[in-house]
Amino acid sequence: MRDIHIENNIPAHIWDVCHRFYSAGEDAYIVGGSLRDIMLGRAPSDFDLATSALPQRTAELFSDMRVIETGIKHGTVTVIVGGAPVEITTFRIDGSYTDSRHPDGVSFTGRIEEDLARRDFTVNAMAYNDRSGLVDPFGGRDDLRDGIIRAVGDSRRRFSEDALRIMRAFRFSAQLGFEIDYGTLSGAKEQREGLANIARERIAVEFLKLITSKEPEAALTLMTKAEALTYITGEYRPSERIFSLISKMPCDEGARLGFFLSEASEDAARSVLRGLKYSNALTTAALAVIRGSRRAVESPADARKLIGECGAYARSAACASVLLGLSCADAPLWVEKNTAPTSLRDLCVTGKDLMEIGVTGKEVGRVLGALLAAVIEEPRLNEREMLIKMAEDILNKA
Ligand code: ATP
Ligand code: MG
Repeated sequence: MRDIHIENNIPAHIWDVCHRFYSAGEDAYIVGGSLRDIMLGRAPSDFDLATSALPQRTAELFSDMRVIETGIKHGTVTVIVGGAPVEITTFRIDGSYTDSRHPDGVSFTGRIEEDLARRDFTVNAMAYNDRSGLVDPFGGRDDLRDGIIRAVGDSRRRFSEDALRIMRAFRFSAQLGFEIDYGTLSGAKEQREGLANIARERIAVEFLKLITSKEPEAALTLMTKAEALTYITGEYRPSERIFSLISKMPCDEGARLGFFLSEASEDAARSVLRGLKYSNALTTAALAVIRGSRRAVESPADARKLIGECGAYARSAACASVLLGLSCADAPLWVEKNTAPTSLRDLCVTGKDLMEIGVTGKEVGRVLGALLAAVIEEPRLNEREMLIKMAEDILNKA
């Protein structure tokens, strides 16, 4: 049955793609996450289409547009339509899986229902077009209404085929605020060892999506219950307090990851981050948040010290330390609003100025450090003459 609400929310250029397939005697549907998001009333980030056309035929049909053929082996052709990429995949049946990761082979089919059967969860296994309406063989629409993540078919088998689906179940549960169906959750628990076979980078991406979602607590608790969290964080086991507070952290990746790891030693945190192969930039951010989360910020001067130590990550670090009960509730605001000096660069004197009054060698750094400490406590001291005078006093005392 056709559904006006769904149809109106699919942009015209996507319909143009479908109509071009119809004219060529092929079938095409909007599928997967884009359809799910539209049915939830959310704007999808990108559009996935499924078609009866073989990949080469799709490439030919859209030869007047930019076509990227990188996924062609698996049946996917990306066409740039209206400036945005649209992934178009031939209806596909995945062969058997022997490594918990990849199907041994894929074959193409002319039936959308067969394609939907290879998909992970019922809410991701629907298709829609303006000829057939909604194709929903596994009850995805009901699960969407009831807020349930449920594996398509036998969950044990589906998770043993591809253990990344275990992570995806927790991730979707967090992002959509859905429960995980009981049988699906027990299947995940039973098959959790398969996670050891999955590329760390892929697990890491899912985990980031999970912890940067609006409400990660329930999904993290479920992951712990299913004994799956150890495949992400090894020995490190955050307390329930971390789970319950993480949603109050700013929603960026470094902030959430740092807070999640804030009960680990710096070495342990580094090893979790390395293990998941996060980028150097993200690792630096998370470690700065962890370090800063341990500092008590009880005054604007403390906030300046924190900025000196954590730079751009100071606000997130301050949020973490407030949540952990170490800092005054105003700490993040003090960091945000600060315009006073926090680093050597901000001082009104340089090493060269000190050398001109006779400071030499290692003393230069020591005196600059002392001047900065004084200016952080009292920003009004940051005037050239005053600082030179203070430097002379320090020298005379030494
Ligand atoms: P997102 O909003 O994060 O992009 P999505 O549902 O679109 O979510 P994708 O990873 O983009 O997720 O995958 C598109 C579709 O492909 C999914 O909706 C699902 O139908 C199918 N899919 C993706 N990964 C798997 C998998 N590991 N096993 C089975 N089906 C999958
Ligand atoms: Mg997607």
